[in-house]
Amino acid sequence: MKKVKTIALVAHDHRKRDLVEWVEWNWQELLKHKLICTGTTGRLIEESLQKKKSDVADHIQLTRLKSGPLGGDQQLGALIAEGKIDILIFFWDPMEAQPHDVDVKALLRIATVYNIPTATNRSTADFLISSPLIDEDYNPILFDYSHYMNRKVF
Ligand code: PGA
Repeated sequence: MKKVKTIALVAHDHRKRDLVEWVEWNWQELLKHKLICTGTTGRLIEESLQKKKSDVADHIQLTRLKSGPLGGDQQLGALIAEGKIDILIFFWDPMEAQPHDVDVKALLRIATVYNIPTATNRSTADFLISSPLIDEDYNPILFDYSHYMNRKVF
């Protein structure tokens, strides 16, 4: 992981206000990194920055994928598997089932497989963004899956 990180931002509908607020609090640090969001989360972040900090909105590097239930979570999962995401901020809703619950589970699973720093709530996101490692080179230690890859299947 390089000093400039690619940070994925995703929030379920009841958690979107929380995430947008978190971005508003942390825009100075986030400006140094690349953001990649599921569709609606990204749109709301862009709109809020445009309204409150239009100069920041013009400079922030933000890519929008498809909306989560329409494949956005799976796109993010694929990017993680390809080593293209450094940090996942994912405010999922613990109080409501989602139409794409299987995708949510898959995203959290693949983030664990690849040892991606993952925040699923605001306080963890605060700790991540304020860590000195956010502006350093950092190589997450990957679990050795060679035993699994080389297993005898038949
Ligand atoms: P959304 O997707 O940002 O397009 O609403 C979030 C999610 O994964 O549910």
